[in-house]
Amino acid sequence: MAEMTFVMLGSGAVRDNPVRGGPAQMLRMGDEVLMFDCGRSAGTNLARAGVGCEEVDRLFLTHLHFDHIVDVPYLVFVGWVKVRNRRLKIYGPEGTRDFVERIIRPPFEQDISSRLSHGKDIQPLDPEVIEVEGNHGVLEREDYRISAVFTDHGNIPTLAYRVDAGDRRVVITGDGTPDDDFPAFCKGADLLAIECSGTPEFLETQPWGAWHITPADIADIARKAEVKRVMIKHLVIEDITGDRSSPYQMAEQIRGGYDGEVLVAEDGLVVEI
Ligand SMILES: [Zn+2]
Repeated sequence: MAEMTFVMLGSGAVRDNPVRGGPAQMLRMGDEVLMFDCGRSAGTNLARAGVGCEEVDRLFLTHLHFDHIVDVPYLVFVGWVKVRNRRLKIYGPEGTRDFVERIIRPPFEQDISSRLSHGKDIQPLDPEVIEVEGNHGVLEREDYRISAVFTDHGNIPTLAYRVDAGDRRVVITGDGTPDDDFPAFCKGADLLAIECSGTPEFLETQPWGAWHITPADIADIARKAEVKRVMIKHLVIEDITGDRSSPYQMAEQIRGGYDGEVLVAEDGLVVEI
């Protein structure tokens, strides 16, 4: 498999930031398109990256906070309307099956029956859901494999995913604080795309602050794991303080404890792996 291209689709988080979509990233693996999380504007940002909703083969959800999943029905319905060739597979923690079953058919009953009455085939609508149960392999393919570990986040099951293809490795986190084994999980990664919601001073002021990792801990992980490149995302702080320079200050804090490259995510940022 020659091509492995990472695209940051949505670098933002919960709030309606006009220049940062909700959490979403894409990984093109040869002729397969993988997507990780599907937050606000993910479908539009996918199109900006030149990929149609119907072309996504597998969607990996990190957790079921709404900011990471709110565009799932959009992805599914546009894929259905444009007619996908391969059934969409959705992976995620416990609760994903229930979420997908409830968000696709019941609220859109009128839409679905209206399209069926015009002769539309129901077949490519429903995704196949695979719930990820523990810290182990998620998917084994001929030329790549995906594994996942849990992080501690907001009392809901939350996953970080790792993609290995030959000697190339990408780690994409959801939210939260990983355990002490996480550097080993990330060992030697070409890219670690990791949430960085705020500085410790900022997180202390937020009721949900303890749900998130700090820049110093990101530096620790990146240094111990000897990852080649870190990209910070889920940049909540700027939405609340209004200070658009804060992600760059957090990147500087990470550089204080880690010698590799640190990128601040932007929607549409591409990294060839
Ligand atoms: Zn979350």
